[in-house]
Amino acid sequence: MSYKAEYIWIDGTEPTAKLRSKTKILPDGAALPIWGFDGSSTNQAAGSASDCVLKPVFSCPDPIRGGDDVLVLCEVLLTDMTPHPSNRRAQLAPVAERFAEQEPIFGIEQEYTFFAGSRPLGFPEGGFPAPQGGYYCGVGADEIFGRDIVEKHLDNCLKAGLGLSGINAEVMPGQWEFQVGPLSPLEVSDHLWVARWLLYRTAEEFGVSATLDPKPVKGDWNGAGAHTNFSTKAMRESYEPIITACESLGEKVLEHVKNYGFGVESRLTGLHETAPWDQYSYGVSDRGASVRIPWQVEVDKKGYIEDRRPNANCDPYVVTRLIVDTCCTALEK
Ligand code: ADP
Ligand code: MN
Ligand code: MN
Ligand code: MN
Ligand code: MN
Repeated sequence: MSYKAEYIWIDGTEPTAKLRSKTKILPDGAALPIWGFDGSSTNQAAGSASDCVLKPVFSCPDPIRGGDDVLVLCEVLLTDMTPHPSNRRAQLAPVAERFAEQEPIFGIEQEYTFFAGSRPLGFPEGGFPAPQGGYYCGVGADEIFGRDIVEKHLDNCLKAGLGLSGINAEVMPGQWEFQVGPLSPLEVSDHLWVARWLLYRTAEEFGVSATLDPKPVKGDWNGAGAHTNFSTKAMRESYEPIITACESLGEKVLEHVKNYGFGVESRLTGLHETAPWDQYSYGVSDRGASVRIPWQVEVDKKGYIEDRRPNANCDPYVVTRLIVDTCCTALEK
């Protein structure tokens, strides 16, 4: 007998990479082998030398197919077995390793928007719904659009064993959030990428698409972010390291923001619970700051910080690498 392995990878689409996947049938009990694909169809190779390599790095039960079938997240390698330039996971691994003693962990809040055709789910044809106000964490058919999909996605993630910690309806109709973590940098990123794949795959069954577009509707509508909550062992034990981490992020503002997802300026305008992308600030309870120290953290004098700047379409391998590098370097001193 055999089982099905869905090999998932991140492609080379610019400016924002897309997820791809294909199925391999394996004999029962067989380990997950290295595989390949046509990189000329994914912006990862020229047609004349098109082979790219898929190296399994994380696998979990496939909640859609069930049984013994699995989802297999892969890194993309060149045929000489070195990381492909599009492979950001390979860049995170050594940084996570270097600072592992500080025990950095992340919880990422993934916001996203459902679309039915060219309109966000819940937007009437050719018009707009009532302005924002009642949708966030709302209830009822006048405020909530797509809950059946959201519930199915959550169940699928939990069946797969992904580290989801919650879900909520967001500020714009058709906009939702799930949280992954807290987990180590590689784990939170691997789980988030697979949870994104499951989001698209689950919504597909309902004839709905999901997008991580950071500003899916222009005008007075909230954008979609990926607030990134971060702590080290020292931050979880006392307050001074919390301030050190906040200060260190203020010394590398552009290096971070430029790598927090394409179109970050369109979302970080200073309106809609954001700080302007080029002005760094941090504060207790402040949802208009770049980095928020939750009020409970100030009360307890220990805990974590929330970098509110990453876009919904960010690459968590990049965001967690930058935060670990910047904050853990400062905390080491
Ligand atoms: P918000 O109030 O910003 O909407 P959420 O509840 O959506 O907050 O998300 C908070 C996130 O912070 C969760 O993913 C949670 O797992 C994460 N988190 C909690 N404690 C820590 C910690 N010590 N280090 C890192 N992340 C944490
Ligand atoms: Mn073919
Ligand atoms: Mn949240
Ligand atoms: Mn949110
Ligand atoms: Mn948040």
